Amino acid sequence: MHRTHTCGELRETHIGQTVTLSGWVQTRRDFGGMTFIDLRDRYGITQLGFNEEQDKELNTKARSLGREFVVKVHGEVIERSNKNDKIPTGNIEIKVTAFEVLNAALTPPFTIEDDTDGGEEIRLKYRYLDLRRNPIQEKLILRSKLNKAVRDYLNDAGFIDVETPYLIKSTPEGARDFVVPSRMNEGQYYALPQSPQTFKQLLMVSGLDKYYQIVKCFRDEDFRADRQPEFTQIDCEMSFVERDDVLNTFEGMIRSVFLSVKNIDLGTIPKLSYDEAMRRFGSDKPDMRFEMELIDLNSVTKGHGFGVFDSAEHVIAINVSGGNKYTRKELDALTDWVKRPQIGALGLIYCRVNAANDYKSSVDKFFDQQQLALWAKQCASKPDDLILVLSGNTEKVRKQMNELRLHLGDKEGLRSKDKFSACWVVDFPLVELDEESGKWHAMHHPFTSPLPQDTEKMTTNPGAVRANAYDMAINGMEVGGGSIRIHDKQLQKRMFELLGFTEEEAQAQFGFLLNAFEYGAPPHGGIAFGLDRLSALLAGTDSIRDVIAFPKNNMGRDIMIDAPAPLNAEQKKELGL
Ligand code: ASP
Repeated sequence: MHRTHTCGELRETHIGQTVTLSGWVQTRRDFGGMTFIDLRDRYGITQLGFNEEQDKELNTKARSLGREFVVKVHGEVIERSNKNDKIPTGNIEIKVTAFEVLNAALTPPFTIEDDTDGGEEIRLKYRYLDLRRNPIQEKLILRSKLNKAVRDYLNDAGFIDVETPYLIKSTPEGARDFVVPSRMNEGQYYALPQSPQTFKQLLMVSGLDKYYQIVKCFRDEDFRADRQPEFTQIDCEMSFVERDDVLNTFEGMIRSVFLSVKNIDLGTIPKLSYDEAMRRFGSDKPDMRFEMELIDLNSVTKGHGFGVFDSAEHVIAINVSGGNKYTRKELDALTDWVKRPQIGALGLIYCRVNAANDYKSSVDKFFDQQQLALWAKQCASKPDDLILVLSGNTEKVRKQMNELRLHLGDKEGLRSKDKFSACWVVDFPLVELDEESGKWHAMHHPFTSPLPQDTEKMTTNPGAVRANAYDMAINGMEVGGGSIRIHDKQLQKRMFELLGFTEEEAQAQFGFLLNAFEYGAPPHGGIAFGLDRLSALLAGTDSIRDVIAFPKNNMGRDIMIDAPAPLNAEQKKELGL
């Protein structure tokens, strides 16, 4: 007898039917002559009932079932006397007439329930058991839906799914490569792709016009909470496009994904220039769920004898609506918070807006009520608000203010995981100076085109050149980024020069692409979205590990299969290592 229903399917309308279910034993409860078992599969939980009076042998047999035994049961759907309105099958149970143990199980090392008692380490080691739990399965199901929504949208828009190779050579994303020794070419190594960047550009030279791929990328970077050494991108490229063609297409994709997965319309996604994002939010991935924007207080703070402000390049404030409720103790705690080395501010100045024209600041010695009124005006403060001020070097103080803004956003409950707000950030700097080496680095990658009106500055003032590059941020997280590419040989040459590549170096590393560009490269541009991050965001979790079936731990180890592992002597010899 095959299973007739899943464990999540039966309702009162099925009462009287004879059914067969299969699944895992979640729990067993023995009461006097009765035995109850919760049977679980991916679809839900159904209660099984056994009664000693009706079938003594069967009841005794049921009592030998342990947690996670795999069983197939046969019986009649009956109305439950003790209904459970917390689960969809809670009105019925199965009066079991026969069952078969398909497999016994060892007692699992942690409870397979929504709230498990297992720590992360043990759950990663027994990931296949962790994956039996609802909260994890739900996330994988969500990820699968996201995948489908992406594919549906891109296929409808005429994109072609093309696979590109994994055994390649160094890609230009600027991280460390994972390498694979070649047995047939002793002493030589493949690199795993940090992204399919060069291949997708080659596909444009080939005339594919619109390409996409949901693809693994590999970057050997130090651990961060939202990073994995291998991760998945939605990688895309288009020909004969300008920036807004790309942005419109992918704004459409993200909106359609949110609609189908979450039933949420993100609306039109605003565009901010990099400069504007830094000025208003102190971040190139601003969290747009709330306002509390950075306000320039230079004009109303300088020249009043307060040395800290007078010597600062920038004095920047945020206005915390209703923030006057914070006690002195809480303000001290905030001050300590910004002074932690991770933030690095020297101190925090505050001004309470007690009422219109009634202010109390920590710098009353230098600023009278009238002058503080100017602060409040600049900040559009209302009675009961709190103005918080940091000062210093522009770039630093903006970054610090961004951290403080996010911290207060959390404190004030303005960053709910159920709320989503996206933005585009455009016109990033083309290059940034590496302080140590004194060299210019591509902020995105070396194929990113400068804005046409800025190309002149590539020789005179590289730091001021804007790139035709764009990122999408959602809730303060970068979820995607890309650029219009350089398709002109001369311009590409200038870019390599700026980055300090000799012609030979450029040829050695990217010769295949530069050569391809000699044969009629169309103007093109593209973007890549982080699928893991998008999934995590949609699933409301902070860790991308939660949305990856078999993730690595924070040392880059898979502790379930125990990788990486040493090679044996034989393998080493074969590989010439
Ligand atoms: N290859 C880039 C990245 O992985 C994305 C792009 O430029 O399309 O960030």
